[in-house]
Amino acid sequence: MSEVLVLVDHVDGAVRKPTFELLAIAKKLGTPSAVFIGDAGSASGAVESLKKYGAEKVYTVDDSEVKGYLVAPKAEVLAQLVEKTSPAAVLLVSGGEGKEIGARLAVKTGSGLITDAVDVAEDGTATQSVFAGNYTLTGKVTKGTPIIAVKPNSASPEEGEGAGTVEELAVSVSDGAKGAQIVAAQPRQSTGRPDLTEAAIVVSGGRGTGGDFAPVEKLADALGAAVGASRAAVDSGWVPHTFQVGQTGKTVSPQLYVANGISGAIQHRAGMQTSKTIVAVNKDEEAPIFELVDFGVVGDLHSVLPALADAVEARKG
Ligand code: FAD
Repeated sequence: MSEVLVLVDHVDGAVRKPTFELLAIAKKLGTPSAVFIGDAGSASGAVESLKKYGAEKVYTVDDSEVKGYLVAPKAEVLAQLVEKTSPAAVLLVSGGEGKEIGARLAVKTGSGLITDAVDVAEDGTATQSVFAGNYTLTGKVTKGTPIIAVKPNSASPEEGEGAGTVEELAVSVSDGAKGAQIVAAQPRQSTGRPDLTEAAIVVSGGRGTGGDFAPVEKLADALGAAVGASRAAVDSGWVPHTFQVGQTGKTVSPQLYVANGISGAIQHRAGMQTSKTIVAVNKDEEAPIFELVDFGVVGDLHSVLPALADAVEARKG
């Protein structure tokens, strides 16, 4: 079976969950091989976790040539690997970086590219959800090496030990790929909460918060959840864009999604409707979000959420 290359999404060697999801998809298409571009010192921990989720091979590329530059060198590294291995497919996380690397790789290798996939079948057909989830497109790459960028939370990671054979790659990066350099990198201040796209529970707030996210945060912290938001809350400047869930924000698929003061516009649903259990708190019993929920509370979030958070804390005690 041909290899399927998965570009590893990691922070200093800590592999992020969407990569494990890609490995689960890769298993359906061929033999999963992970491509780790990063500091050699951080590779060993990453290799262990990649093995655990089924990587048969891990290509490691020490990033001294790549570090400090934007995505172009990574696309070159992948292009060299595609040339060397003739893989059945290349899978990337469909975020800003993954999509740009995928696009550059497609040009370099003369291949077709599908982005924002939400499912990939055994025969390589990829499903995309478009127009805020109103249409489902099924497509297939017909030229070159299929390059598919898959949205986070589109598959479940599958544990299952792979061989995890490590192959260190020596790569050369052209001057052209070093055309844009990173001059400063400031890590986002940690909130102490889980990452929005990886969290098992997400508690979101919308315009109905009136800008007071304290009750949303209180419930999130009681549940160990991430905080999300509607675009109305983001556009009002109450929370950063990184919190936005929906068509132009993040796609989440947690075990539990709690929407507070959110009406349930189609563009918001596009980012959360695959959540396993959906709860909404809204003072308008006609709010469209109630069409979607497993449990709904008609009430003022400013009184419901603190009471709920206290009840959760009391059960812990
Ligand atoms: P509203 O629709 O104003 O709803 C507020 C809700 O709060 C109401 O249902 C109200 O009954 C309730 N409420 C008010 N006070 C309280 C209270 N005290 N307690 C309880 N409930 C209360 N939106 C997104 O969220 N994500 C996206 O990614 C996104 N992308 C978009 C892309 C495009 C191209 C477009 C055109 C729009 C997009 N939108 C997106 C915007 C979307 O159409 C809605 O405008 C937005 O989701 C509304 O946010 P909201 O539900 O917080 O506000």
